[in-house]
Amino acid sequence: MARDYYDVLEVNRSATEEEIKKAYRKLAMKYHPDRNAGDKMAEKDFKNISHAYSVLSDHEKKAKYDRFGEAGVSGAGAGGFDPFGGDAFDLSDALRTFMEQGFGGMGGFGNSFGSQRGRSSRAARGSNLKLTLEITLEEVFKGVEKKLKIKRYESCEVCHGNGAEPGSGKKTCPVCQGQGQVRQVARSLFGQFINVQSCSNCNGEGQIINRLCKSCGGSGRKRVSRTISVNIPPGVDTDNYLTLTGDGNSGEQGAPRGDLIVFIKVKEHKYFVRDNRNVLLEAKVTFTQAALGTEIEVPTITGKANLKIPAGIQSGKILRMRGKGLPDVRGSKKGDQLVRIQVWTPSKLSKEQRTLLVKLEATNGSAPTDMMGKGSFANLSADN
Ligand SMILES: [Zn+2]
Ligand SMILES: [Zn+2]
Repeated sequence: MARDYYDVLEVNRSATEEEIKKAYRKLAMKYHPDRNAGDKMAEKDFKNISHAYSVLSDHEKKAKYDRFGEAGVSGAGAGGFDPFGGDAFDLSDALRTFMEQGFGGMGGFGNSFGSQRGRSSRAARGSNLKLTLEITLEEVFKGVEKKLKIKRYESCEVCHGNGAEPGSGKKTCPVCQGQGQVRQVARSLFGQFINVQSCSNCNGEGQIINRLCKSCGGSGRKRVSRTISVNIPPGVDTDNYLTLTGDGNSGEQGAPRGDLIVFIKVKEHKYFVRDNRNVLLEAKVTFTQAALGTEIEVPTITGKANLKIPAGIQSGKILRMRGKGLPDVRGSKKGDQLVRIQVWTPSKLSKEQRTLLVKLEATNGSAPTDMMGKGSFANLSADN
């Protein structure tokens, strides 16, 4: 299951954009389905290398992948959330990657395999919408349903997305004479061939609109406000994201919608610092409490809880409250709450307290003979 995209493309992690592209070309040539008819293994390899390339050739995705691995680049379909699960990169995606990215500017290399896949292309799919959703640590614990107010393009209800004034009809495209495609002779690595491309004037339909829809100006879409409900599963963290497939902008001329991508940002908490599944808290006790031992009340994600302070605890000691942390997004068991105990020293003393402390100091026979030593200075910055 675990795949490393760099391994798949047989390059190392420091490979340049150009090296990655070269590696992809070489492998894509070898495994392209048109050269390996009926070979399922080759098809699978072709899909894998194309998928890897689609990530590593995209600056944003590559940066995410380098940081978070596959979890950073795989979304989930239909509002579900499965950042560590499989993804729906299929053969048509692989062929598109091959044609659009791998061989752009090479004279329509994809067509040299005799395919006419360009024929089916229509107006571009609508763009993705991205937004950031802030949630609290308590919401991370339980999961939460949120209502998102968004503005997006939706198909025009007057012309039903086709951009034509109702009743005005369509006319034959003058560029392709209604063929929907244009042919030209081109050259490639495999010699001369006829390049058949979808007509860009009519988007391959052979017809163009007679009169533009007045309501949308012919674009076939309009901007509207919507409220979208989204389920955030427990355990998410900042920079996780959910892909709501088909909840983005409608494309022009009735082209399908893009996706809505919701990035999570977890708000800072009054008490807690998050460390993956663990929750960190600092609690102060007086030095008499530290010496005698006690029980204190501490906040946890689910409410107040009692914490036993053993007698003789040293300042800086960390006590672990098992299972009081956060769930994991994959549903494994909860983390812990870690409480660092700090001994609080009074800065003002009453006369009576002072007298008692002076007496206490006079009896201080149990202190270690050597009070000096190497401490932990990990938290000090270099210039401090
Ligand atoms: Zn319209
Ligand atoms: Zn045309």
